[in-house]
Amino acid sequence: MLITDLEFIARQAAEKADDYEAFRYYIELDERSDEALDELVEQIATPIIAAIDCTTCANCCRHLDVYLTEADAQRLSSGTFIPYSTLLHQYIDREHAAQVEEWGMFQQKPCVFLKDTLCSIYEYRPESCRIYPMFTPDFRWTLEDTFGGIGLCPIIYNVIEQLKIQLGW
Ligand code: SF4
Ligand code: SF4
Repeated sequence: MLITDLEFIARQAAEKADDYEAFRYYIELDERSDEALDELVEQIATPIIAAIDCTTCANCCRHLDVYLTEADAQRLSSGTFIPYSTLLHQYIDREHAAQVEEWGMFQQKPCVFLKDTLCSIYEYRPESCRIYPMFTPDFRWTLEDTFGGIGLCPIIYNVIEQLKIQLGW
């Protein structure tokens, strides 16, 4: 059974932080090829992504930094009719994004475009929102990002818990 209780997931992630850290190193050292590991993770993640309804969750929209490209900003501006200059000055932080080598990030957290648990600019949302959470390709080489989301994203939490079982952890 999938677990979607956000408080439970956050608590579990905090209480089992050492266990997750150890599991992360176990994955890094696992003898499977990167391709075989990606295939296994895809097999686990696909039904979990299909079964969890993001429109009732939106926890990532509340807690994560949202990075944008210049193309994202232009699409958002033309789609929402927010003038590009307004977007740049009132919604996007270029300075802090540059510190992590990104073009821009939304200034506010929770995301200013989140209405209850729905994205009010869904058609024009940034690419980073569209692909989250991303497990493959290169699952083994993006473990830091993935494991960083265990305590906030039910999809990630359930995928990692299933992976633990599959790898005999
Ligand atoms: S743009 Fe939409 S999908 Fe992206 S963080 Fe904001 S509310 Fe969530
Ligand atoms: S991606 Fe994860 S955190 Fe974001 S809405 Fe979906 S289940 Fe919730």
